[in-house]
Amino acid sequence: MKVYFLGTGTSQGIPVIGSHHSVCKSQDLRDKRLRVSVWVSWGNHSFVIDCGPDFRQQMLASNCQKVDGILYTHEHSDHTAGLDDIRPFYFKQGEIPIYAHQRVIDNLRRRFDYIFETVNKYPGAPSVVPIEVVNDLPFAIGNKKAIPINAYHGSLQIFGYRIDDFAYLTDVKTIDQTEIDKLRGLKVLVVNALREEHHNTHFNLVEALDFIALIQPEKAYLTHISHIFGFHEDIQKKLPKNVFVAYDNLEINI
Ligand SMILES: [Zn+2]
Repeated sequence: MKVYFLGTGTSQGIPVIGSHHSVCKSQDLRDKRLRVSVWVSWGNHSFVIDCGPDFRQQMLASNCQKVDGILYTHEHSDHTAGLDDIRPFYFKQGEIPIYAHQRVIDNLRRRFDYIFETVNKYPGAPSVVPIEVVNDLPFAIGNKKAIPINAYHGSLQIFGYRIDDFAYLTDVKTIDQTEIDKLRGLKVLVVNALREEHHNTHFNLVEALDFIALIQPEKAYLTHISHIFGFHEDIQKKLPKNVFVAYDNLEINI
């Protein structure tokens, strides 16, 4: 299975528009972070987790040729705003399955009403097949199983996903023990770490490292990173030897 980091930034991306912060001006390509998303593929199967406002650019940069489905973590715009840009995949493949909590499907239905339209639908608009994700009910994606992991982003319920020995959790602030039990024996855990300072709805670095220590994956990658966190190179130096800062266009094989 190949995991390709399409974006590793927090909601504004890095550089932030109009910012004079040194990280926003960094020449290191690993400090340029699009909105958070990953592409997971194996054999002939290809899925993305989240579809934010940088989706088009990410599909071009990664040379992704096919999307069999989109798994959503939650409805926030940095994770969903790119839905219209599935059009080229829709034109080639037909309706694209989207997997999400019913609340997220309802939210997308309001915000992208023309995509869900059934009467007099504009022919250029894409179509999706919404599939409700329910906690404790794993579902099939291609010939693999996706296990939803229930967590909280402040007071908002969100899903992470486990696929084989890979798990992807972003925008987590709290998670129950029952969900932690679903994350045993991972080869790779991807988890959000916003910055060093406390934040009300995201793990900071200490919280992310504590979580990694609890789960004990072989390797962990940090994502959803703010420019305030600092330069890629500096963050990496502060991490245990099995923890890495993810960066855009990083590809790992599991
Ligand atoms: Zn987010």
